[in-house]
Amino acid sequence: MSRITELKGIIADAYNEIQEIQKLCSHPAPCVTKKYTSNTGNWNPRDDTYTIKLHCELCDKNWEVVASTNTSYKDKTEYEDADRLYTRVIK
Ligand SMILES: [Zn+2]
Repeated sequence: MSRITELKGIIADAYNEIQEIQKLCSHPAPCVTKKYTSNTGNWNPRDDTYTIKLHCELCDKNWEVVASTNTSYKDKTEYEDADRLYTRVIK
């Protein structure tokens, strides 16, 4: 096994471990920051989207929740849940 192959294995193992830790993290609200973004003013307003970008300082996970004027009720509920659940706002 070459050194490169060995190093790639180490990176893959580390990445898998990071994903496991992030999967187990409950992302408690005091550790999560959220940033509101939007894409509006489109020619077709149905393309407008509103996004909350979330970051957990505990496990370093980044994710986002998108609500669009053109999405299902489920997507809007997920957006509203994230909006209500996480209280720290970053600009
Ligand atoms: Zn977390």
